[in-house]
Amino acid sequence: MQKQTYSLVLRQEREADQVKKQCKMCGKVTIFTDTTIKRHNANGKSIYQFAIYKCPKNHTWNKKLDTYKSFSEHVDPETLIPTEFDSIKENEKIIFVELVDLDVIECKVMVVEGSFRLDQALASQIEGLSRNEIVQKIKKGSILLNNGLVKPSQKISLHDTILIHLK
Ligand SMILES: [Zn+2]
Repeated sequence: MQKQTYSLVLRQEREADQVKKQCKMCGKVTIFTDTTIKRHNANGKSIYQFAIYKCPKNHTWNKKLDTYKSFSEHVDPETLIPTEFDSIKENEKIIFVELVDLDVIECKVMVVEGSFRLDQALASQIEGLSRNEIVQKIKKGSILLNNGLVKPSQKISLHDTILIHLK
């Protein structure tokens, strides 16, 4: 059986936005701008994700974005991407027509920033398969999440494995 493994990096595109709030250091309400730099803090079994905002005087404010479970403590998910996988980054896609000889595509979810439905995430990451085709495959069981049948609207979590059977 011909299988290709990819690691999926799912990031929701975010505009650099601004937030008006009290700066404790400045002692007044000011405009905080998103630096688009993000950091992860591990606390027990959860990883907290923050966006770093700065006021005009460079005081930082960490805006909590998301919390997700970690299978081990103090792990930055970015460091978990095994090098033998093809990593799908932003603006990069799995090209479906190049995969005709394959039986199975395996996608390991290495980074999830934001909320992603299975069908939408795959449609955005795979070129040559429409969202509708993906929905049909999920319903037929040709696409499995963690080896199980799921709904197309199922939310994707960190470390999920998606199997796409092509034949
Ligand atoms: Zn300030």
